[in-house]
Amino acid sequence: MEDWRAWTVKAAEWGMDYRARLRELPVRPPVSPGEIAAQIAQSPPEIAEPFEQIFADFERTIAPGMTHWQHPRFFAYFPSNSAPASLVAEHLVNAIGAVCMLWQTSPAATELETKAIDWLRQAFGLPDAFKGCIQDTASTATLAAVLVMRERALNFTGNSAGLSAAPRLRIYCSAEAHTSIDRAVWFSGIGGDNLVRIPIKGPLRGADPDALRELIAADIAADFKPAGIIANVGATGVGATDPVADLAAITREHDLYLHVDAAWAGAAMICPEFRPLWAGAEQADSIVVNAHKWLGAQTHCSAHFVRDPASLVRTLAARPDYLHTLGHDEVVNYSEWGIPLGRQFRALKLWFVLRAYGLEGLRTMIRNHVAWSRALCEKLRAAPAFEIITEPMYSLFSFRYAPSGASDLDALNLRLVEAVNADGRIYLTQTRVDGAVAIRFQVGQFECTEADVMSAQNVITEIAARL
Ligand SMILES: *Cc1c(COP(=O)(O)O)cnc(C)c1O
Repeated sequence: MEDWRAWTVKAAEWGMDYRARLRELPVRPPVSPGEIAAQIAQSPPEIAEPFEQIFADFERTIAPGMTHWQHPRFFAYFPSNSAPASLVAEHLVNAIGAVCMLWQTSPAATELETKAIDWLRQAFGLPDAFKGCIQDTASTATLAAVLVMRERALNFTGNSAGLSAAPRLRIYCSAEAHTSIDRAVWFSGIGGDNLVRIPIKGPLRGADPDALRELIAADIAADFKPAGIIANVGATGVGATDPVADLAAITREHDLYLHVDAAWAGAAMICPEFRPLWAGAEQADSIVVNAHKWLGAQTHCSAHFVRDPASLVRTLAARPDYLHTLGHDEVVNYSEWGIPLGRQFRALKLWFVLRAYGLEGLRTMIRNHVAWSRALCEKLRAAPAFEIITEPMYSLFSFRYAPSGASDLDALNLRLVEAVNADGRIYLTQTRVDGAVAIRFQVGQFECTEADVMSAQNVITEIAARL
């Protein structure tokens, strides 16, 4: 490619200019399905095209059709922050283009991954009994954990013998759990019918340990084999958080495997004041925290901590070597800790982010987000015709527009979300709480300010009044 250097510089500069003008753009692009595809050629070119034209098409067709996840007024889903320091690291990773599957295919990447994960372990206040690796997504970490649950419960015969003659395994989680858990149970062959939902109670919408004890006893009486529990710390809908220590006690009573899904809220545990919310996580077998959500290391970067790497490797590695003391060996081959063979170099962005902002910088960001989210929640509570449905958990709360006399509140609130998102100044998503539609509001974008958060009040009330 000619002028490679110039285009590389141009791409980097484009990225900086893009980030600088995000506030002027609608968070969600005003496009309809098929509109972008219609502008892209039907077939690939036989003859090389000038890069000028390729880049111009990117600017004209692709960039305006993106939803801007790095927009400071992105309050939908959860954040997927790509902090500037992470972006710089990714430029380097892309240039090197290494596949980090074995130590020998990526010595520095492997050794940095071990260190960066241990830095995060310390940052979260977890004991040094935990080792870990970086998975692409929390969904992969949870699938790996569920596969370990299956293999432990079957004395590591599931991979070879299959499940047709095996006892029926049971996995437990609350109804607030993320769909990645349903999918892990499907893909592991355990089956969705064997994912048992623990009733929730209390303001944190956490699993009820007494109800779980009864479910397990009933399953054992019916000849099922309990295999593991998945605990929520900050579930996706409204931030439900289970009493992890109580669930850990139950795993010990029945020799079960405990996986903690703290994909989003785990980031907050760099602040000691939030750690009581996951008390007991230090007793878990497996924990996932997405460094690619709130912390700023761009996707994919899921920190997966495990107490016993040997059971993970024994479940997932094609050449398990049970005799090695994993984590103390001379070399670690991280592809044996996950599902894909090939792996990107993901530790560099984490290392850059932790160093460029420091834990204090990241704590300040998280504390600000939590404080601003609470302040906005109070403003909406005071606004006429608005109700708070769930109180702030970390930086997430949910609300509903309920003007007096309105008949179908679910439909009205779905219309409100759509109207707000079509307006483009902010971006929100909906969920259901006890069957009723609620609108989620989460604060977490790396560059967002108090003014960005507070501006949402006017946007929401103004658009609601127009419905
Ligand atoms: C985002 C999220 C997931 C899924 O994360 P991926 O990395 O996209 O797979 C799982 N659980 C919770 C609680 C989440 O917030």
